Amino acid sequence: MRGARRGSDDTPVETDAAEPLKLDLPQFVAGTLRRLTEAGHDAAVVGGSLRDILHGEVAADWDLATAATPEEVTRLFPDARWENPFGTVTLAGPPRVEITTYRSEGSYRDRRRPDVVHWGSSLTEDLSRRDFTINAVAWRPRDVEAGIGDLVDPYGGRADLRRRVLRTVGDPELRLLEDALRLLRAVRFAARFELRIEAATEAALRRHAPAAAELSGERVRDELLRIIAHDPPSDALRRMERLGMLTALLPELAALRGVEQRKSLPGDALEHSLRTVDALPGHDPILRLTGLLHDVGKASTGGDGHFLGHETVGAELAGGIADRLRLSRADAARVSELVRHHMFAYRRDWTDAAVRRFIRRVGRQRLPDLFALRRADNAASGTREPLRGGIAELEQRVAAEIASSPLRMSDLAVNGTDIARTLEIGPGPEVGRVLRALTEAVLDDPALNTEERLTALARKLHRGGDSTHRTGGGGRGASA
Ligand code: ATP
Ligand code: MG
Repeated sequence: MRGARRGSDDTPVETDAAEPLKLDLPQFVAGTLRRLTEAGHDAAVVGGSLRDILHGEVAADWDLATAATPEEVTRLFPDARWENPFGTVTLAGPPRVEITTYRSEGSYRDRRRPDVVHWGSSLTEDLSRRDFTINAVAWRPRDVEAGIGDLVDPYGGRADLRRRVLRTVGDPELRLLEDALRLLRAVRFAARFELRIEAATEAALRRHAPAAAELSGERVRDELLRIIAHDPPSDALRRMERLGMLTALLPELAALRGVEQRKSLPGDALEHSLRTVDALPGHDPILRLTGLLHDVGKASTGGDGHFLGHETVGAELAGGIADRLRLSRADAARVSELVRHHMFAYRRDWTDAAVRRFIRRVGRQRLPDLFALRRADNAASGTREPLRGGIAELEQRVAAEIASSPLRMSDLAVNGTDIARTLEIGPGPEVGRVLRALTEAVLDDPALNTEERLTALARKLHRGGDSTHRTGGGGRGASA
């Protein structure tokens, strides 16, 4: 790499390799570096952890790179785990340390992962295959104990971090062609460090955005959830839209652009969705994702001007997106159920029974999420909460019902064994049917929840079920 050149703001600042830099290494990291170098292997702190330190943060995990092969590394660290084919050896620490053997790049046939990994021979070569200049920095120790060493920064990553520029290492066209995940990593790093994207890199991101659709759901999920954890998430999402990534990854959502709606705050349904995400907490990216998708059903239900049933259509679409992104079952259910229930219309004249039914319909474990979502939705609509009769009141009534009223089958004064004995039948679906009917009855009238009254009611319900059965009128429970 030849001498420093410097030009207009976006011109790469390339420096002659090394520059002295003092680092405050945790003892475990220093010990690891010492063992590698004393065994004769070149080793350095690299990538994300050094970038974070240069940015003034404390590195949580440490990335080391070395000339030693994974076999050599595991021989030096018998406790180490070597579990992936890319030659990364992990030490438990603390702090956790990942040791990666110098690589040169393999070919990326499917734009997803390198087909083969070639061990490289030098740190400089290893840095050249990294994605962005801010990630292509290293620190090579001279005196580990004293934390004295050299910053190796051939692409001007530190300067880019300082002047807040995101730029690929080398030709952005080629680097994005190699690995489409870098599309999303670009957006994530830009959001995390508040970087603007250098012109050539941005043009390449735009050109290659459609390739994001070919990424595996898991990789998109991991990046997307990390992207929207940064504040304000709408900035990164708008950037994804501008670059064409939203259409590639979440076309159902991108379709909300231009869907006009009547709200106190101006803007189409996508603007409203973005405001909703901004109003949800960053520590819960699944809830933010839910906010992002809560009105996704509006693109196809706007015909009548009322978006009738958009929460049902939206729950289907959101469920499909959750599957595509390979969310866990629990997360997928959380997203789609919240979307389905987000249109509840509370009024002060709801009876206590109506409040109890609402609790049952939504599920008590979902209620805090649903209230948070609705508050964000309201804020994003410009809807002011009424002094009385708003969400806060419903929340209070819900809490009071949960504290005092039987709501679940397990709250009943009788259980399945009691019912089977009373009805003189064996355990089976009929017991379940009667218990469900009793739960419904108690939800309407909590005073029914005594053994005596439930036993009497169970007998009636059982006979009722029997007669339905005898008349052959469409099967059990059809009359309910
Ligand atoms: P963070 O850990 O905060 O997500 P990171 O930059 O450390 O960010 P990692 O996935 O831990 O990301 O990767 C460590 C380093 O490996 C990066 O800093 C970068 O140098 C390199 N790297 C990771 N993924 C890629 C990629 N897809 N293409 C090129 N280099 C990559
Ligand atoms: Mg990392």
